[in-house]
Amino acid sequence: MNETNLRTTPHRRWNPLLREWVLVSPHRTQRPWQGKVDRVASAPSIEYDPECYLCPGNVRAEGLRNPKYTQTFVFDNDFPAMLPNVAPSERDQDGLIVASAERGICRVVCFSPRHDLTIPCMKPEEVRRVVELCTQQHQELADVPWVKHVQIFENRGVLMGASNPHPHCQIWANEEIPNVPMRELGAMRAFLKGNEKCLLCEYLKLEIEDGERTVCENEGFVAVVPYWAVWPFEIMILSRRHLASLADLDDTEQGNLAEILRRLTIRYDNLFETAFPYSMGFHQEPTDGESHPEFHFHAHYFPPLLRSATVQKFMVGYEMLAGPQRDITAEGAAARLRNLAETHYLDGQ
Ligand SMILES: [Zn+2]
Ligand SMILES: [Zn+2]
Ligand SMILES: [Zn+2]
Repeated sequence: MNETNLRTTPHRRWNPLLREWVLVSPHRTQRPWQGKVDRVASAPSIEYDPECYLCPGNVRAEGLRNPKYTQTFVFDNDFPAMLPNVAPSERDQDGLIVASAERGICRVVCFSPRHDLTIPCMKPEEVRRVVELCTQQHQELADVPWVKHVQIFENRGVLMGASNPHPHCQIWANEEIPNVPMRELGAMRAFLKGNEKCLLCEYLKLEIEDGERTVCENEGFVAVVPYWAVWPFEIMILSRRHLASLADLDDTEQGNLAEILRRLTIRYDNLFETAFPYSMGFHQEPTDGESHPEFHFHAHYFPPLLRSATVQKFMVGYEMLAGPQRDITAEGAAARLRNLAETHYLDGQ
């Protein structure tokens, strides 16, 4: 079968980062859709919510009070998933019932004192301050001797389980490298060993040459719908330079990163004229004290929406039991995102 036929026939695509396949069913986009396609009226937004535990000056759990911060604000999560001071403990029964105690530090980063101000609606310099704070936090946590991995991530929207609409991200730093980064690390290491080249540097070259899956770019970064995307409008942001973490960004690249995060999220909001939900996060080299020449800094965006502000993709059935599957192709998704304006749909309303 030649490559042209792949555009219209069911096929599988290889994800070289996770070393697994994704099933693509482009012919299914023709099937009749009987679901709703409503546009959602956005909730009235308020700049300050007296009930919000992230707003400046408000009381959090256990009577702790936020300072009247005016830019960004970081604090230790009051209900952390991990604790920094658990004693070592192991269990292993025939390699079948296995556990070990895990230390971790969980923090929350508020992007702005404004309860209603999301990344796409912030000024470029405000987004840059978020990037700078994340970089500083990454370094601080990387310096903790037992921390081997720092995960920075944002859940946006109730669809992604965000418990509070006040724009914020989380940082979880822990003692062991978690599953997904470990798999990617293994793939990047094997590729470097076999090819004496970086997996993502080589992949980025192909994407730039092709251009079909590129959504937007600047001097420092390129946003693409990866060839192996699973979520309908999934995006990867790749640094043009071979960098290992936020700590490696120079002054210009910090600005470039802030700019592309903002431009990409404006496109996302414009796609269905809604506050576009997603989980996103940065993948950075482990902080285990080893050198990681194989690792290439990048961000992932995993948005659940498929057809409108109310119709989402579900990862059920075949995905749970067999493997990921998608209908619209990565190329189709990229073209739709690429053709959108970079002025937010709410601007000027
Ligand atoms: Zn708030
Ligand atoms: Zn690279
Ligand atoms: Zn990754």
